[in-house]
Amino acid sequence: MGDRSALETAAARAIAYLDELDGTPVGPTVTSDELRARVQAPLPEDGTDAERVIEDLVRDVTPGLMGSAGGRFFGWVMGGSVPTAVAADWLTSAWDQNAASYGPSPAAAIVEEVCGTWLKELLGLPADASFAFVTGSQMAHVTALAAARNQLLEARGWDVEARGLIGAPPIRVLASEKRHETIVRAVRLLGIGRDAIEPVTCDEMGRVRPDALADALDRAPDEATIVCLQAGDIDTGAFDPFTEACRLAHAVGAWVHVDGAFGLWAAASPAHCHLLEGIEQADSWVTDGHKWLNVPYDSGYVFTAHPAAHKAAFAESASYLTMVSGVRNENEWGPEWSRRARAFATYAAIRALGRRGIAELVKRCCASAEELITGIDEIPGAEVLAHPIINQGLVRFLADDGDHDRRTEAVAARVQEDGTAWLGTTIWHGMRVIRVSVCNWQTDSNEVERTVNAVRKAATGT
Ligand SMILES: *Cc1c(COP(=O)(O)O)cnc(C)c1O
Repeated sequence: MGDRSALETAAARAIAYLDELDGTPVGPTVTSDELRARVQAPLPEDGTDAERVIEDLVRDVTPGLMGSAGGRFFGWVMGGSVPTAVAADWLTSAWDQNAASYGPSPAAAIVEEVCGTWLKELLGLPADASFAFVTGSQMAHVTALAAARNQLLEARGWDVEARGLIGAPPIRVLASEKRHETIVRAVRLLGIGRDAIEPVTCDEMGRVRPDALADALDRAPDEATIVCLQAGDIDTGAFDPFTEACRLAHAVGAWVHVDGAFGLWAAASPAHCHLLEGIEQADSWVTDGHKWLNVPYDSGYVFTAHPAAHKAAFAESASYLTMVSGVRNENEWGPEWSRRARAFATYAAIRALGRRGIAELVKRCCASAEELITGIDEIPGAEVLAHPIINQGLVRFLADDGDHDRRTEAVAARVQEDGTAWLGTTIWHGMRVIRVSVCNWQTDSNEVERTVNAVRKAATGT
């Protein structure tokens, strides 16, 4: 095999990167201009030696990498990757399987099938739910809502796959006012349109209010309706009241969709699964492997309680495909055709951790989030706005001059500059706040202590 050295170099450099992560600044250390200066070059006319390409790539981009693979990155909701999953992901690239259907890669199809069953059991979802492995929660929403669109319109005598949406009965989308942006994009992509979304009022912590949902359903009980709930609000980690919401929605034949991009993983922890009570009554669910399961990107999962509607939304027979009976063709369940055999990394993570290890990972992240928020709370000027329900917490810093937003922004910026940890800010109830998210397998009390010390230094100078 030619260019074997490039593969060996890449493996060595990747391992060294992960080894050194603990001692390097978490945030990038170069500006966009500096990065461009490092990478920019005329389109190469001729090829370059493979090993050289890899060495240059590593040298030029490393300072522009975000240390989100490490245990002191708390921005957004990301997660790292357990080494076994990274290793399986390397193999996935080397094997270069096309996981479009069973034919081009029997192994990919069967591993996905097995992982789908494992995930349903881990997440407490119905064993007969259909599923798909997609790039992330964004496409998982598209997949689930395409199934919802099929079923709701089919019930009104409209074949949306054949006729499209022009002239179709209208679809209402009653979505939590705290819904993630990806819900809106999914609704747009499916041709339903952003204007079909009616926000449902939430309580202070971001949970849908059942009375607001009941009122919204009452306004047009006969219309095709999708209700979008959340398992894990992005700011507070709060869970919607699933039992009550499903009862109200199902009474008028609405489809209930749950965005559980990270929060659905609470189901894997016996200490937290009570938060999801009633969630199994929903019609579709999404979550990410690349967040709390700690597998590499791109890894999202979608499940539906309506396999016929799910399959009708995607299956399209093509004569050149060899249909093997008794097996599951991935492209009949999701929007992609040629695609990465992404189930291998999921298989590796689930086997490496086991049900118990996943429960411990979830529990450890939740405990670390609480420790982090409690530790920051002891710093003079800190004001905790939301203690973690699971792994998300909110805190800000009060300023003597009353400009709390500016001080909070400044503290976060100083933490980023210091490099020990990475914290970001968001707007919550009109206030600038630091949002802490813990979903990395490496975060523990030691990482929390180092972070609290860095935040103290950023806030007080000592
Ligand atoms: C991350 C996230 C998404 C989007 O997921 P992707 O995997 O980035 O597509 C959607 N909803 C919530 C609540 C999230 O945290």
